Amino acid sequence: MTEKNGDLMEKIVSLCKRRGFIYPSSEIYGGMSGFWDYGHYGNELLDNIKKLWWRNFVSSREDIYGIRTSIVMNPQVWEASGHATTFDDPMEDGQRFNVMFKTSVGAGEEATTSYLRPETAQGMFVNFKNTIDSFHPKLPFGIAQIGKAFRNEISPRDFIFRSREFEQMELEYFVREKDWEKYFQEWLEKMREFGKEIGITQIVELDVPPEDRAHYSKRTIDFEFDYPFGRKELWGLAYRTDYDLRAHSARSGTDLEYFDEETGDRLTPHVIEPSLGVDRTVLAVLASAYTEDELGGEKRVYLKLNKNIAPVRAAVFPLLKNKPELVSKAREVYLMLKKEFGNIEFDDNGNIGKRYRRQDEIGTPHCITIDFDTLTDDMVTIRDRDTGEQERVRIDDLKEKLQ
Ligand code: ATP
Repeated sequence: MTEKNGDLMEKIVSLCKRRGFIYPSSEIYGGMSGFWDYGHYGNELLDNIKKLWWRNFVSSREDIYGIRTSIVMNPQVWEASGHATTFDDPMEDGQRFNVMFKTSVGAGEEATTSYLRPETAQGMFVNFKNTIDSFHPKLPFGIAQIGKAFRNEISPRDFIFRSREFEQMELEYFVREKDWEKYFQEWLEKMREFGKEIGITQIVELDVPPEDRAHYSKRTIDFEFDYPFGRKELWGLAYRTDYDLRAHSARSGTDLEYFDEETGDRLTPHVIEPSLGVDRTVLAVLASAYTEDELGGEKRVYLKLNKNIAPVRAAVFPLLKNKPELVSKAREVYLMLKKEFGNIEFDDNGNIGKRYRRQDEIGTPHCITIDFDTLTDDMVTIRDRDTGEQERVRIDDLKEKLQ
């Protein structure tokens, strides 16, 4: 890591702490390595990213079913998937260490050992039959979920990049074997689009060579991002073949074949899996957005976040705090916008310049100021975060302006 980039990482971590995005977990007890808490703005950002993913990958489509499965599953799931035997990392002394978190379920002699799921994907595979029986989908179709995953990483590091508890957005797309390349390409495109939509700059795609692929994969593309600490995996797209359905079918004794009404064939579908880590996405978004420049002769820091994911869409200020007529007009505009968008802030603290800086640092695209003229002409000043430019806009046009 160059000094400049190390510096950048420190600046991002410090901004996240100071401005209420991300804190070390249980910090007052000295923290816990590999665990993090999201503060108000971090939680908003994370939530906006998840909602956008859900819209793009699930709810805007006709062929994807959402699901929410349990974190602790029958331990046989992990025997069948291969995680119990192969999901390990080498320790310093060369010994292998399985990174699944063990937990004990039930009391006394009845207790069984199970695991916190290391990926959400298996929840989709074990519900393949339920989904078919409930919805009778035609191939190709997918099952998707967003949820927590846990890995007892030997050395968690690089802030939220490699943690022990994190979230995934995963989709298992079931296809006929002969079609796998076509749909692999389609999901590749969807992932590229999503990267652009959330403002991640410079994603590099790596076609993973066979010796580096997971045991179940016949083709994997890693989406890599230039984090301040180096080029690292952000997301993965894998062709998982029919490995998982076959393995679960064999182990559970449940038939997981699909009956193709069109051809009268029974077949085990093959799977294309876009897998995206939420936390790594948040960090890539923050690293892409972090900007330092000079505005009006002053140095400033701002997050150039796209408005579709910014924690605050707009902030509303009365020019002066001690003028009740300005405050009440500003509250009126604030409430009108809050009803429409939700994530609108009101701030009457300190001088306007200071309020702008604060909103710049959390990435708010627009600030709206109510001044004495507003009281007579029903117009406000709206300031653009990136250029600092200001224009007068009618209150009636604000909703449209912020869309
Ligand atoms: P790595 O090689 O960096 O350990 P991986 O190849 O094991 O990652 P996958 O098993 O493909 O990761 O998991 C899918 C996605 O989940 C990753 O692309 C990443 O976004 C996210 N992810 C995996 N491990 C972690 C972790 N420890 N902390 C945060 N996110 C993670």
